[in-house]
Amino acid sequence: MPIFEYQCQKCGAEFEKLVPNADTKPTCERCGAKDVERQLSTFSAMFAGSRALPCSDGACPTGQPSGGCAGGECPFS
Ligand SMILES: [Zn+2]
Repeated sequence: MPIFEYQCQKCGAEFEKLVPNADTKPTCERCGAKDVERQLSTFSAMFAGSRALPCSDGACPTGQPSGGCAGGECPFS
């Protein structure tokens, strides 16, 4: 399961959450609001220098070509 970073649109809290898929929207850990936004930029930056590997079309273990494999690199390979 991928870990995403979210920011609450209500109180501004930032937190990481392990979610079953990219469509899952967790609630804010601080205030419990459901209005949270996934921080894709921070997420990919976290993995950029570590172990980003090429991800061939349709073979991404995340199953979300518009997310983790944007730019042709898969952080989960
Ligand atoms: Zn909040």
